[in-house]
Formats: sequence, C-alpha cells, structure tokens
Amino acid sequence: MTDLPGVGDLHDKAVSTRVVVVGGGIGGLIAAREFAKLGMTVTLLEASSTLGGAIRGGVVDGIALDLGAESFATRGGHVRALVDELGLGSAVVAPAPGGAWVAGLPGGKAAPLPKGGVLGIPANPFAEDVVRVIGWGGAWRAYLDRLRPPLTIGRATSLGKLVRSRLGSAVLDRLVAPVTSGVYSARPDDIDPDIAAPGLNAALTRTGSLTGAVAELAAPRAGKKPGSAVLGIDGGMVRLVDALEEALVAAGVDVRLSTPVSALERDGSGWILSVPSSDGEPAVIEADAVIIATEEAAARRLLAPHVEGLDAEPAVPGPVVHIVTLVLAAPTLDDAPRGTGVLTVPGSFRAKALTHATAKWEWVREAAGARHVVRVSFGAQGEAPVTDGLTDDEIAALALEEASRLLGVPLTGDQLTGFAIERFTQSQPAATIGLREKTARTRDAIRSVPALGAVGAWLAGTGLAQVVPDAVAEADRLRRAALFR
Ligand SMILES: Cc1cc2nc3c(=O)[nH]c(=O)nc-3n(C[C@H](O)[C@H](O)[C@H](O)COP(=O)(O)OP(=O)(O)OC[C@H]3O[C@@H](n4cnc5c(N)ncnc54)[C@H](O)[C@@H]3O)c2cc1C
Repeated sequence: MTDLPGVGDLHDKAVSTRVVVVGGGIGGLIAAREFAKLGMTVTLLEASSTLGGAIRGGVVDGIALDLGAESFATRGGHVRALVDELGLGSAVVAPAPGGAWVAGLPGGKAAPLPKGGVLGIPANPFAEDVVRVIGWGGAWRAYLDRLRPPLTIGRATSLGKLVRSRLGSAVLDRLVAPVTSGVYSARPDDIDPDIAAPGLNAALTRTGSLTGAVAELAAPRAGKKPGSAVLGIDGGMVRLVDALEEALVAAGVDVRLSTPVSALERDGSGWILSVPSSDGEPAVIEADAVIIATEEAAARRLLAPHVEGLDAEPAVPGPVVHIVTLVLAAPTLDDAPRGTGVLTVPGSFRAKALTHATAKWEWVREAAGARHVVRVSFGAQGEAPVTDGLTDDEIAALALEEASRLLGVPLTGDQLTGFAIERFTQSQPAATIGLREKTARTRDAIRSVPALGAVGAWLAGTGLAQVVPDAVAEADRLRRAALFR
C-alpha cells in the first residue's frame, strides 16, 4: 500500500506548485479559480486587454451592454450555481417570454417561431402557428411522416437528411435551418441529431415517426410550469467575469493582461512559456503545470509540439461571427414588432439573426430609456460574414438596413445614436457530425502529456453551460495529478 501524504505536506506541495493558465475567457477563469482554491501559485495570462473572451462588454451611446454572450443555459445547473457562489444570484433575470420570429418566408413574410418542438421540428404540422410558417402544402407534406412505414427510418446521422426525408423541405428550410444557423451557426446537414437532440433517434424508433418522436420528447415539458431555458444577469454577463476576476485577485492569482503566450516548451517535468516583455524581447515564465484555455487555433499552435497526433491547425475553421450592436431612437420598435428577435431562412438575408435586446431584457430596456438596442449577427459555418472587409461605418449602415428589413419597420441613419462591432472566431459546433469522436481522441492525447491540460469551447462545446463544468473537471484532474504524482 502506498502512503498517502500528510495534510501539511499536501498544503506545502500545493503552495509550491506553479500553475499557468493561458487565456482569460470563461474556461481559463474557472480553471484558475479551481487551482487557487487549493492555494496553488497561479498565473493567468491573457492576450487581450480585458478578461472574458467571448463574454465582452462595452458602453454604446452611454449604455453599458453585453456585446458578446448575453445569457447562459440553465441546463445542468452549473452556471447558475457558479453565479450564486459569486454572489450574483439576486441579479439573475429571465428573458421576456415573447419568443423569436422567423423571417424570409415566401413573399418576404415573417411569423412567430412556433411554440414547442425540438430544434424547430414541430410535433403537429397542422398547428396554426406551424402552418403560418410552412403553409398548407408544407403541412400536408410533413403529415406524410405519420403515414410512411417506420421501418424506413433507421438511425439518422444527419439532422438535415432526416428532416428533409421525413417532413420535406418547407420544415427543413423555414423552421429547422433558421434554428440551427441561429443557435449553432451551422447547417442542419452538418448536425448530428444524437448530440443536438439527445433521445430523438430513440423516440423515432419507438414512435415510428419524427413528429411523433418530437411530441414524445416535448410531452414531459408540457405539464410543467415553463422555466426559462436561458437566463441572464441584470447589468450583463460581464458581471460574471468581473466577479471571477475579483475572486481570483482576492485568492492571490497573478492576472496579467495584454500578455499573449507565443510558445510553450518542455523544461524537465515542467514548462517554459514565452511572453512579450516590456523591452520588446521575449520573456519566459516557468510553470509546473499548464492549462491552455485559448480558442482552438491558438491552443493547437501551443499544444501541437507536445501532443502526439495533434495538428497545429484546425481541420475545419470554425465560423467567424460579427455582432453589430445598434442603439436606436426609434419609437416604432416600442411594440417589439418581432418579439425578442428574428431568425432567418438561410439565403434570405445578409444578416443571420437579430436580437431585440430592449424587448428581450428588462434591464437593457431600463438602461436604454426611450432608445432601443438591437444586435445584428453576420456569418455562419462555411460562410464568411458579408461584413468582412467593410469599414465600420459601412458595417453599421448594412446592419441598420438588415435590422429594418428583419424587424419590418423603417429605420434610418438619423435614428442610429451609437453602434459597436465585435468580431469572434468560434470553433466548429460540437454537434457537427463526427466531431465528438475526434474531440475525444484529442482530449485523450492531451491528457497523456504530464502536467498539461486544455479547456474551452473547442473541447467542451460552445456555451457557458458546457465550458464551465468541463473546466472545473479538467482543472481538478490536473491539480490531483500535481499533488499526488
Ligand atoms: C457572439 C457570441 C455570442 C455568444 N452567446 C452566448 C450566450 O448567450 N450564452 C452562452 O452560453 N454562450 C454564448 N456564446 C458561447 C460562449 O460565449 C463561448 O462558448 C465561451 O465564452 C467560450 O469560452 P472559452 O473560455 O472557451 O474561450 P474564449 O472566450 O474565446 O476565451 C479565450 C481567451 O484566450 C485568449 N487568448 C487567445 N490566444 C492567447 C494567447 N496566445 N495567450 C494568451 N491568451 C490568449 C483570448 O484573448 C480569449 O480571451 C457566444 C459566443 C459568441 C462568439
């Protein structure tokens, strides 16, 4: 039997263990906090001048707003628990119940996105709100799903193929594609239903039809008091980042901004990281353990020399997304003409989606006074944003034009009182066909390198509900290894 180290030894070992976290997005912040909880000597290196990564805030026309992530999924309860732990529980808010619309229907029409359903797939094609989007022709075509022999179903591996074959192109193009491109920045053909809608394939086999499967999956939700699938924070998701930074500093973490790590090298059982120094020459930081918490491209470049079989470049570049936040003095928006936002039928607009933030979040409405805040997004998987290469003024003008069309009200340049443009590179959506297996192999390869770990959306999947618990688990794995090796 091996002797367990004593408590005093463990404490000494924790304090003398130097951990460096590279990247100060939510993954890196969470990982750093986990190491700091045990008293380890933690340094967090962030390339940009602010923490938070895709959780970004800014002041537009005097209003402090989220310019990146604006909510968190309640699934799993991990983010909610974190928010509570950090003392922000009383600031948690639900979005307005209005729901989103879908625009780009034939004749340039728009309609509310039908209630219920799974990934836009309806349980009842003849429901009034469904017919409004897919028309009677689309509803009858979808109804064939109930009449087709179940034996032809099999296990579907592509959401697009499944929906097209069972329910027809009206459901695919006008309901499912707007949801997948709005939520995952991806086409339905590239999405694995087992990951995007767990349980759907099994329900399909049980019920013999896709609409039947959706009805079965939606049934347990029907009797319950509706809870919100996403929540926000009064004042913005940036408050979560601020609270984490405060907690890290209080725990003695050395947080260094504007410090991009350019290389990672082995040094015995530890590591050496290259960072810029004040005199322009590269400086080095020594570490006993390192966690890489950057976006995929930077992570691969740093990890590839040490991780067997890991390519230095992503096999498929992830979607580049531009978010244009507009502040408008436009009373025509007071009645929220298109609910809390608009998804689009692919190909019908140059923008991908729109969020009417003042209609969605009470706190934004209060902060904006008589003005409105609208976020227009451009870009999706395999499709560069049309805003690429334009000047900021051209981008603002295009976003305004698209907002006017998407919301179905005239909006003019003299109503635009401020704007902000934020650019993001995401990783491929985790529900991309075949990606789960590849990611599992990548993870195994990284874990086989002593004193090295990696966290973030490219490994855990996009969204705080994925990244947060994954970063806790990965930091725990590495800190145990550091203490007990
Ligand atoms: C526009 C947008 C809206 C979103 N909305 C939501 C939402 O409402 N709800 C939700 O749950 N999720 C949302 N997401 C997804 C979610 O924000 C991300 O999945 C999550 O924030 C990713 O966190 P991360 O730590 O993996 O990476 P990031 O947030 O990308 O952080 C990586 C960090 O690493 C830094 N870095 C890069 N290279 C280096 C280097 N060499 N050295 C040091 N630092 C480096 C970067 O500057 C960055 O700060 C949204 C994403 C985007 C892009």
